Amino acid sequence: PTRFFVADLIVRGANVVTPDGVKRLEIAIENGTILELAPTVTSKAKEEINAEGLHVFPGLIDVHVHFNEPGRTEWEGIKTGSSAFAAGGGTLYVDMPLNSSPPVLNKESFLAKQQAAEASSHTDFALWGGLTPDNLENLSDLAELGVIGFKAFMSNSGIEDFKAIDDLSLYEGMKKAAKLGLPVAVHAESEAITSALTKQIRDKGGKSIRDYLKSRPVIAELEAINRAILFAKETSCDLHVVHVSSRRGVALVTEARKHGVRVTCETCPHYLHLTEDDLEKLGAVAKCAPPLRSDKERLELWQSILRGEVDLIASDHSPSSPDLKDRDNFFEVWGGISGVQSSLQILLTHANEQGLSLQTIAALTAQNSAERFRLANKGRLEPGYDADLTLIDLDSSETLTKEKIFYRHQQSPYVGQTFKGVIKQTLVRGQTVFKDGKIVAKPLGRFIKPRYKHL
Ligand code: ZN
Repeated sequence: PTRFFVADLIVRGANVVTPDGVKRLEIAIENGTILELAPTVTSKAKEEINAEGLHVFPGLIDVHVHFNEPGRTEWEGIKTGSSAFAAGGGTLYVDMPLNSSPPVLNKESFLAKQQAAEASSHTDFALWGGLTPDNLENLSDLAELGVIGFKAFMSNSGIEDFKAIDDLSLYEGMKKAAKLGLPVAVHAESEAITSALTKQIRDKGGKSIRDYLKSRPVIAELEAINRAILFAKETSCDLHVVHVSSRRGVALVTEARKHGVRVTCETCPHYLHLTEDDLEKLGAVAKCAPPLRSDKERLELWQSILRGEVDLIASDHSPSSPDLKDRDNFFEVWGGISGVQSSLQILLTHANEQGLSLQTIAALTAQNSAERFRLANKGRLEPGYDADLTLIDLDSSETLTKEKIFYRHQQSPYVGQTFKGVIKQTLVRGQTVFKDGKIVAKPLGRFIKPRYKHL
């Protein structure tokens, strides 16, 4: 029933991507919240947006970014990172405990990051805490402060002050996390396999892109996922496997879940869009770990998505300063892809060829992430939810040029590529943050805590 009120804002004329499908609806927004969604909202509004011809998606929730502030702001920073995210249709990101410096391993480092993000974030944000062999006694403090979970590296993190987790610490850390009612997220690659292969290859003088690819095979991912699942089962810990790069990696998660283990996984747009052949052409900007895979693996991963086995998609946006990408030996190049601005456009570009519905894209990029990590009132276009939304012209396409990049450094494997869909406007809690190529508001990002403990 339509009530009479004067809303703050009404979006009219758009095709709205709701959890039940795409519908022509008008959206009334009041105090940053979606008040009403109806074919016709009869009320008046202080402001209206004519979105005729556009689609409205829930704003992206990206649970895996590295904005590297404080301490490595010269690599990215919250202001530039969140601007790029908003330009890509994003409204809530979750920053990883590294590569900020110090990494988020205790109360002080958590508060330093929260403060930095509150000062300069253009979108809402949540935070991961770290789990290393050195900080088990700090997990309860971090839980109290509001982390969404604890991130551990099963292989070398690339950063001195964030140690890889050993098996016993992972097992003990999961016991603690289970008691705190929070998930543990793992970078799942076997350190034993990857470091031994790296040594073998480098001892023989190997330093090329192909040599690097050989040092991080799929089996390293599968072994680590298996081990993490075993520990999760034994400890009743809630597990999330980040950036899974292979169908078989996803299948291990699906299988474990069938057997009652609480485990989810994410993959990244780069594994769905790029291959190891692209890495050879693009070089350092496309280096990541786990690395890009063969085209066969890429297509199989798409099948995992279409079967509904991948819970969510996150960018793993992990930039560095350009000098760290400039090395003759590919093993010494900083690994990390800058992509937080392009996630949605990459998925939209592949949607038709893969048979991926807009509704599924919204689920994978917003709704599922909010539900998985208990980000209340986020991730859906429904009454009562935060008015986090992005307006997209799906009839147009756009080439990513360096000038359009909001990152601190204009580097990305996607420069020069043309994607379907132009992001016209992004609103965070009803306030326009990005419009027609520009950031148009002061930083307004709020810190979001997971809402309830489920014990
Ligand atoms: Zn990462």
